[in-house]
Amino acid sequence: VTPGPRRTCLGCRGVRDQRELIRLTRRPEGAVVVDARGRAGGRGAYVCGDGCVERLMKGGRLSHAFRRPSRAEPGLVSAVRERVEGMRIESNATSSRR
Ligand SMILES: [Zn+2]
Repeated sequence: VTPGPRRTCLGCRGVRDQRELIRLTRRPEGAVVVDARGRAGGRGAYVCGDGCVERLMKGGRLSHAFRRPSRAEPGLVSAVRERVEGMRIESNATSSRR
């Protein structure tokens, strides 16, 4: 396995492979959403799960992460959770394939 780029989860400060993290991106109007394709322009923030995104939503940490006034899109936590579950299924499929 080739080691990929590593990123820090802003919720728990854990360093993980970028592909294990969910990239968040900020829309111009300030709503923070899941970056589904992982390559939207602008500043990104990474989290490893829905618990970490909840932590980020407290105390203005999202605004700090994006260095601008930011708010979570309604449903952001469940969007992250769905994505984490999707990745888990994907990695199980990969490991059983060998
Ligand atoms: Zn985390």
